[in-house]
Amino acid sequence: MAIATESPTRSAIDQRYRQVSGWLDGVPEALDPRSPLPGDAQFDVAIAGGGLTGLWTAYCLAKGDPRLRIVICERDIVGYGASGRNGGFQSAGMAGEMRVFKQYGGMDNVRRAERAFIDGIDWVGDVVAAEGIDCGWHKGGALRIATSPTQAARVEAGVAGRRERGFTEADVWEISLDELQQRVRFHGAVSATYTPHCARIDPARLTRGLARACEHLGVTIYEQTPVTAIERGRLVCQQGTVQADVIVRATEAFTRDLPGGKRRYMRVYSHMLQTEVLPDHVWDELGWDNCEPIADQRYHFFYAQRTMDNRIALGGRGTSYYFGDRIEDANDHNEAIFARIDEALRRHFPAAKDAAIEHRWGGSFAAPRDWSMQVDFDRATGMAMAGGFAGHGLTGTSIAGRTLADLILERESDLLTLPWVGHTCRKWEPEPLRAIAAKSISAILLSADEAEEQSGQPAKRVRLVKRFMPGR
Ligand SMILES: Cc1cc2nc3c(=O)[nH]c(=O)nc-3n(C[C@H](O)[C@H](O)[C@H](O)COP(=O)(O)OP(=O)(O)OC[C@H]3O[C@@H](n4cnc5c(N)ncnc54)[C@H](O)[C@@H]3O)c2cc1C
Repeated sequence: MAIATESPTRSAIDQRYRQVSGWLDGVPEALDPRSPLPGDAQFDVAIAGGGLTGLWTAYCLAKGDPRLRIVICERDIVGYGASGRNGGFQSAGMAGEMRVFKQYGGMDNVRRAERAFIDGIDWVGDVVAAEGIDCGWHKGGALRIATSPTQAARVEAGVAGRRERGFTEADVWEISLDELQQRVRFHGAVSATYTPHCARIDPARLTRGLARACEHLGVTIYEQTPVTAIERGRLVCQQGTVQADVIVRATEAFTRDLPGGKRRYMRVYSHMLQTEVLPDHVWDELGWDNCEPIADQRYHFFYAQRTMDNRIALGGRGTSYYFGDRIEDANDHNEAIFARIDEALRRHFPAAKDAAIEHRWGGSFAAPRDWSMQVDFDRATGMAMAGGFAGHGLTGTSIAGRTLADLILERESDLLTLPWVGHTCRKWEPEPLRAIAAKSISAILLSADEAEEQSGQPAKRVRLVKRFMPGR
């Protein structure tokens, strides 16, 4: 649990939402919810879910046609889901698998899709600047660091694969360990690559700033408004029914709680910690002036950023699947994972070895069976959806929002031919199969990391689960 900054002037509900993540605790405005849906209502477009998918969709629609009456119904508050909890890497990592997407237009279209992610970073940066969203958006690129020879081989193979797909020396390149140390004093690196295609952001400030920009454009946002069913022509909410010609599902990992959503996605948990604000002498030692987000190449990798207020935020994945795919507040806390990422912080950033940890939290994102994002709109029924970003939503949600707006407003655009548009995939297996598989895969990957660390050799056991894993 994040330890919310206590203040006698804050309401109990504000303090409860501040505990959801270090990012939410850091937003300057009160987290008191907006008004809920007052009763039955009529709009042109009704969106379930106030995360980045719902907000980008509303924003692009409102920009595209200011006459549209648009509403977002959010169960908690804007940013309560993954959008207010994530690592803040706005990267060019495509939210999907090449092997899946190449069935739509071959590798040429996959290359276009990868470019769309690269270009999507600046698109977000431009909106952030135009709307004056104070979220620390800084495009300093990203570092991928191998901390063992086996990881180094994987990093090298990743660069070779990118070269084959047309990425040039200007997109990603290997840097020397000397250069790495000039950028950031990181302990334990064996090799590293740098890409200029990544921005660091504070995700909660982005999400909540975007909500305000939507409201300025006339979008209505109801919070504390749980949607209980998403149906043709209407969102059924706890407080009443919203009728609309177009209905958008933007509930990502929470979709399983809605009728018909149970096996659509697997919820994958990721956990994070945030240090206290680190003093100048620590930053003098650490460097990291360009704030490049960093990830290693373990199977259970960690990711880290220098935050806009000079903390280190570091996260990682681990064995945290819960039978039946339940989302419960208790799942946001996993002491074993917190201990592992704490150890990674102290090991790799020795200048911060004495840093106090102020926040620990977790959150979940949605992994479809093929780990590949989907954007869809059926004009005949008016039903739209976007989701399944599999941990790459910071750029993916904005592309999805732009695409849904083009589809709904019947605007021709290059986005409409990208491979995730209209893509569907089979559902996950029912329980207990899914729980057994998820736990076994995770345990194999964890033991592979340990074995590689000890032996310096690639762990062969990974082959057993490779076809169920997303590429990196
Ligand atoms: C810990 C963590 C780290 C991550 N790191 C990164 C990263 O560094 N880079 C990156 O690109 N991606 C990252 N991701 C993934 C990224 O955060 C997501 O892909 C993205 O935020 C998805 O946005 P969304 O709007 O689709 O979903 P969400 O943000 O989850 O929004 C869904 C919203 O729907 C609401 N909701 C749910 N049920 C209902 C209902 N019944 N009625 C009404 N509202 C409902 C929820 O409260 C929530 O606000 C990370 C995710 C996590 C959890």
